Amino acid sequence: MPVIRAATRATRIAAPAQFTGAVFNDEVVAPTAPSRLRASVVSFAPGARTAWHAHPVGQTLYCLSGVGRVQFAGETVQDLHPGDTVVIPPDVRHWHGAAPDRLFSHLAMSETTADGGSTRWFEHVSDTEYAAPVR
Ligand code: MN
Repeated sequence: MPVIRAATRATRIAAPAQFTGAVFNDEVVAPTAPSRLRASVVSFAPGARTAWHAHPVGQTLYCLSGVGRVQFAGETVQDLHPGDTVVIPPDVRHWHGAAPDRLFSHLAMSETTADGGSTRWFEHVSDTEYAAPVR
């Protein structure tokens, strides 16, 4: 079984078109057929978050450190803490990121569709949306 050494993969800065604030991506595994699994550790600076988006096969987030936020369209913002698992159903609009004053990191796991389809991206999460009361 291959071991992918950490030293061979640099941390990448997440694209500003799809994220607000400083977000860093450390790839864990990329899909190799027959597996469709993609996993990465995503680290958010305080206040940083994804844009609104949806995953065709859903996504599982496992919270690793800090304090985070997640919101599903039409629902209240929820806070996230280490050890929490977020199960995001297919094609549900949502965003995730850090709390305003705390770092946050999660392991993100998702699968592509059979024909390679992956995340669909929408508009950025506005400061007003982000500042909504947390459940
Ligand atoms: Mn997501």
